[in-house]
Amino acid sequence: MIFTNFREIDKTGRLVISKDIRNHLNIKAGDILQIEADDECITIKKAESKCVFCNSPENLIEFNKKYICKDCFAKLMQSQ
Ligand SMILES: [Zn+2]
Repeated sequence: MIFTNFREIDKTGRLVISKDIRNHLNIKAGDILQIEADDECITIKKAESKCVFCNSPENLIEFNKKYICKDCFAKLMQSQ
């Protein structure tokens, strides 16, 4: 199924993703989206994994099927 919407970007660069697309991809408030761009296109996709503490999708370490980013892991180690 292909969804096509036309949306205006607001002054601060925000873009609304329509409810039909959010429902189709099971995107909820608080989910992390990965945004990639080349010279012509922007691709937005749901990030597969995110840190359980800060929701970052980057530099993840997996432990017991949960993810923690390296920054939070370092902070956790310093707090011991
Ligand atoms: Zn984190």
